[in-house]
Amino acid sequence: MPKSSAPRSYLVLENYIGGKFVSCGNHIDSYDPSTGEVYCKVPDSGKEEVDAAVAAAKEAFPDWSARSPQQRGEILNKLADLIEANMEDLIQAESKDQGKTVTFARTVDIPRSAYNFRFFASSVLHHTTDCSQMDHMGCLNYTVRCPVGVAGLISPWNLPLYLLTWKIAPAIATGNTVVAKPSEMTSVTAWMMCKLLEEAGVPPGVVNVVFGTGQRAGDALVGHPDVPLISFTGSTATAQRITERSAPYCKKLSLELGGKNPAIIFADADLEQCIETTVRSSFSNQGEICLCTSRIYVERSIYSEFLEKFVAAARKWKTGAPSDPSNNNGALISKEHLQKVRSFVALAKSEGAIIHCGEGVDHLDLPEANKSGYFMPPTVISGIPDSSRVMQEEIFGPVTCVCPFDTEDEAVTRGNGVRYGLSATVWSRDVGRVHRLAQKLQAGLVWTNCWLVRDLNLPFGGMKHSGVGREGGKDSYHFFTEVKSITIKH
Ligand code: NAD
Repeated sequence: MPKSSAPRSYLVLENYIGGKFVSCGNHIDSYDPSTGEVYCKVPDSGKEEVDAAVAAAKEAFPDWSARSPQQRGEILNKLADLIEANMEDLIQAESKDQGKTVTFARTVDIPRSAYNFRFFASSVLHHTTDCSQMDHMGCLNYTVRCPVGVAGLISPWNLPLYLLTWKIAPAIATGNTVVAKPSEMTSVTAWMMCKLLEEAGVPPGVVNVVFGTGQRAGDALVGHPDVPLISFTGSTATAQRITERSAPYCKKLSLELGGKNPAIIFADADLEQCIETTVRSSFSNQGEICLCTSRIYVERSIYSEFLEKFVAAARKWKTGAPSDPSNNNGALISKEHLQKVRSFVALAKSEGAIIHCGEGVDHLDLPEANKSGYFMPPTVISGIPDSSRVMQEEIFGPVTCVCPFDTEDEAVTRGNGVRYGLSATVWSRDVGRVHRLAQKLQAGLVWTNCWLVRDLNLPFGGMKHSGVGREGGKDSYHFFTEVKSITIKH
């Protein structure tokens, strides 16, 4: 058959195994969510590719784990430099692959990806281990920490490079070698990062990236007997499958999962700042952040005023072409996801709720090129009972619900009344109340009078169905190492 001479308008990605790009026979289409067109072909890897990547990682482990944290840190810092040097290309690619605005990729995703490497390059230098008193039964007892081996790292599509590097950086800084599997829907920036590894000085086999679906590539990684540790970020349903799959191997698991995060707003809050931040916390990145606010409880005395001002502010949160810097939101990740998010709004409507703005109320005036994209405007719902699926399930889109409350205890009970426990936000000027709520709320992270302020030294993770384990400075160090107690008789 004659080959077509038409120029190819999409990227074809390859796996990165043992320091080399390796092509794969089968591919999956990955779309530009802002146009609905195929953006790239992602390798549809399976057991064979994962086996090769694990073998490469195993081979690289003895040398890499024997290097000092300083030596590894220098390489991580060089990689951060290279990400920064390629910043603009990575920003454009992340936006095109995920649908997020270029502005968001420029201010959040890519700078943070570089910083993840810098942070862990430094962080691993500053931990100490334990030592008991010299005369404990005539022995000196102390602990050391050793890398675990080949780490399996699986990440989602909402913050593609950001979340993948949040795993790769601590894993390799502590001396492990890795096989990473990004989401099949957003693989491009991980592939671009692979092109920088050699120049950064990362030895072949230390970082391997296998692309493909969760069902094939992800499952092969989780089920691989030579991968003793899995760090997973994604949905609770997938985490349950991963837990079952890895149980026979007694793997070390870190699971960072979904949320249904409440904001609790008291009458004494700085309303202007609260509304500005709560619009951001509800709708940033199209609401596709695990930490986004999706249930807003407002003290009844300010409920009407809040709702009116909040809806007005939500209407100003502009949705449209990701490249337009005047837009706050771009497109949702996929057609299927858009349909799922819309179905929650339809459900709310069928249950008698009021849709104040957004889906079905406001019209999006999109440029011609974006008419087939997966866009949805910020949507505010009220008049919905806590028992509704809309209030119980993670929607993961630009949808938030507003409800009144009467007492502090009621707000806490309702805030905690879901199976998730990732983050919560409290708005009040009363210091005592802020502390009380922070103690009582079942959430791994509680922000008061702010949102998404992150110190990477602190533990990150969720309670209940939002996760198992924590990652962050010391917590990542602990997760990616095994501790050993050593006793020396003298
Ligand atoms: P997902 O669970 O569908 O997929 C996540 C990753 O797991 C992807 O790489 C996917 O290919 C892979 N995967 C799927 N099935 C698998 C299997 N059986 N075995 C191994 N791997 C498998 O999640 P998603 O839709 O990509 O991401 C959205 C979810 O992620 C939301 O629930 C969101 O709240 C959550 N999330 C959590 C955090 C956090 O830090 N807590 C951060 C971002 C996103």
